Amino acid sequence: MKKIIDFNDSKTAFELKSNNELQRAFFLFKLISYPFLVTIGKTLVFLSIKLRLPVDFIIKNTVFDHFCAGIDDNDSIKVVNSLASKKVSSYLHYSIEAAGSESDYDKCLKSTLQTIDISKNNLNLPFIVFKPTGYGSTDLLEKQSKSIPFNLSENEKWERMINRFRITFEKAKSLKIKVFVDAEESWIQPAIDEIVEKFMIEYNRSEALIFNTIQMYRKERLEYLKQLKNKAVKLKFKIGIKLVRGAYMEKERVRAKKMNYNSPICNTKKDTDDQYNKGIEFMFNNIDLFSIFLGSHNEESVSKALILAEKMSISNNHPNLYFGQLYGMSDNLTFTLAKYGYNSVKYLPYGPVKEVIPFLIRRAEENSSVSGQTNRELDLIKSEVKRRKTIT
Ligand SMILES: Cc1cc2nc3c(=O)[nH]c(=O)nc-3n(C[C@H](O)[C@H](O)[C@H](O)COP(=O)(O)OP(=O)(O)OC[C@H]3O[C@@H](n4cnc5c(N)ncnc54)[C@H](O)[C@@H]3O)c2cc1C
Repeated sequence: MKKIIDFNDSKTAFELKSNNELQRAFFLFKLISYPFLVTIGKTLVFLSIKLRLPVDFIIKNTVFDHFCAGIDDNDSIKVVNSLASKKVSSYLHYSIEAAGSESDYDKCLKSTLQTIDISKNNLNLPFIVFKPTGYGSTDLLEKQSKSIPFNLSENEKWERMINRFRITFEKAKSLKIKVFVDAEESWIQPAIDEIVEKFMIEYNRSEALIFNTIQMYRKERLEYLKQLKNKAVKLKFKIGIKLVRGAYMEKERVRAKKMNYNSPICNTKKDTDDQYNKGIEFMFNNIDLFSIFLGSHNEESVSKALILAEKMSISNNHPNLYFGQLYGMSDNLTFTLAKYGYNSVKYLPYGPVKEVIPFLIRRAEENSSVSGQTNRELDLIKSEVKRRKTIT
């Protein structure tokens, strides 16, 4: 495939990394490349926490510092500023997980609102994000997705959840910060889509403030994008979309098999890739209606998007087009895109070390299962180490 940008430029990718940080990254990705070591590591971490062993220090100085911006906003802002020096903007996520009670959901709302406060008046932090299951129970979302009626107490809980969405969007709107709503499992996503659409109609009148996340590993999501476009034309609102491939493939497949229904996930990786690329093409063809955030580490999809954008005369810094990667991953994409004037964004999780552990484990597992991605990271680090040696 013809490339319009070379993503092999390790100097650009790792300009912000010291030699020690590069070595740490190499060591981490090497470990992660062995799935059995990830499994052992995960067991050891949980065991150490249970036995109250002081593992925080080790985690903090290794995997945490590589994938997280810090333990609090002071730490995180330093990373935000450093990325901004290379024209990369960021969005912060206070990564506490596993909320389960009404007070947990209120705590999650509070941390999202705090993140909005940190992001306000800071052009380098144009977005915030939250997970819908941080605001209300999975059971309720599943019932709503299946149109199962609520009892009185569930009704109250539902209203409280909707109110948490509203409070978030109101505050974000008043401070002109865009909001990503993360995508979750297919059996609760219909309810999430319904809520997000309702708020998009209300808040996205002149521009996209609210972004829903669409997982293209789901067979019918291209169709959903088309329906959403028709709705937006009819009801005159703008659509914000964070386009991803999807993070819950194994879980989706296991559930479908166990409960004996057709898996909603594409049968092959190629089908997912094709759908992802078609999703990009569809939105590019309607770029006046869509604000598009391409959340992906896949170099081929990003390259295809750039070629298509060029063909369609969509400028590099088009206000409706962003590219995003996770902190600590695919720096060759993030920094090269920024260098060429594209809107390039890093997702920065932060929070106390223990709270962020589930996020870190998911990152390790994800990288471990996509061996091509890990090898790509290792190759780039190796070539940068070699390059630095030749110039000293
Ligand atoms: C900024 C950002 C935000 C994100 N937000 C969300 C979110 O809100 N919700 C969410 O679910 N995920 C989210 N993700 C994760 C995302 O969905 C992917 O899991 C991850 O980015 C890996 O996909 P990739 O596009 O980077 O590329 P690749 O590494 O090329 O693709 C890996 C992905 O392809 C799919 N895949 C792999 N093997 C197969 C197969 N055999 N058959 C079918 N499909 C397959 C899976 O989706 C897998 O994750 C986000 C990612 C980023 C970068």
